[in-house]
Amino acid sequence: MGFGGFHLLEIPAREAAYLLNRYLDAGGNYVETAAAYGNGESELKVGAALAHRRDEIFLATKCIARDKKGAAEQIDRSLQNLQTDRVDLLFMHAVGTGEQLGQILAPGGALEAAEEARAQGKIRFLGISMHGQPDTLIEGITRYPFDAVMATFNYFDRFNFPDLEGKLLPLARGKDLGLVLMKPLADGFLWRSAPVAFRYALSLPVSVVVTGMNTKEMLEADLAYVRDFQPMSAKEKEELFRSAPELGEYVCRQCDACLPCPKGVPIPEIFRLEGYYDRQMRDGKARDPAEYALRERLRFWYGGQERARQQYQDLPVKAAACIGCGECLPRCPYHLAIVEKLGIADYKLSGAKRYF
Ligand code: SF4
Ligand code: SF4
Repeated sequence: MGFGGFHLLEIPAREAAYLLNRYLDAGGNYVETAAAYGNGESELKVGAALAHRRDEIFLATKCIARDKKGAAEQIDRSLQNLQTDRVDLLFMHAVGTGEQLGQILAPGGALEAAEEARAQGKIRFLGISMHGQPDTLIEGITRYPFDAVMATFNYFDRFNFPDLEGKLLPLARGKDLGLVLMKPLADGFLWRSAPVAFRYALSLPVSVVVTGMNTKEMLEADLAYVRDFQPMSAKEKEELFRSAPELGEYVCRQCDACLPCPKGVPIPEIFRLEGYYDRQMRDGKARDPAEYALRERLRFWYGGQERARQQYQDLPVKAAACIGCGECLPRCPYHLAIVEKLGIADYKLSGAKRYF
């Protein structure tokens, strides 16, 4: 389990230092931060807390500059903030579009600065990271010999972005890359199910599961999940996918059992696009205020709305072709109200004013 530095922004440096040192004392050795977290604040806290224990950790940070000059400056600033002369792993941070990937790969792009820094011993390994749908990550590790890749893996988003486990994971493993899992709790959405969410994440064939921690209680609980870890069997995973309350009777498990539709409605594909759009988080059900606020905060976290709408527009058959015959309903093992959900998905993806 790696220590993610984003949530150190929420606590004073003294508490951050306690947590980081306790993590190391308990046997942890992977600490990760980013230049962009609080414009260097997270790096400063990590540096102040762990400079005296530099040799005990594998230290990772991230560079968000896309051009060579900006990246060179940012790398040097990160080293300063972290009070060290080298980081073990530098990620190109949040490379989410083909355009951004083109910028870092181009002559005069950020990777040139990273390569020079690596030649000077300031960096040991180079990686690439982004959130959500992994098209650009897949292209990135195909076009450039990165050492590591970081992506979102958890039992909720696996159904919103099936390419994460279906394509990115086997490709990265085939290339023998370091595979860094982030967001085992789906940005906190799975907080009520933390033990099983960690168990699921730790069972994936990845190098490290990175999680943010900002209280003693959270750190001790996470350490216990790792200490008590037993890999999940395929049967246990199936059971989790069936019974997880966050998936419920709304999130499509992409099993294709509802097909074929006599009208050719590509049901799972439409729901996959709904996943890109808002992670299938708005489901037309009344919620208590805390749950509502959490969903509203997280549903557009990955910013995939425009791309989802574009891809929906390109579908030859859309939700509107459904005549409500009900043939698909008994075939869905998860009891999804497919007809109603198609209406909600269409409302999101076509920009209709209302779905009922
Ligand atoms: S209810 Fe709609 S989606 Fe389901 S089989 Fe009938 S036409 Fe197809
Ligand atoms: S059967 Fe249900 S869960 Fe499976 S793809 Fe169809 S709608 Fe999704």
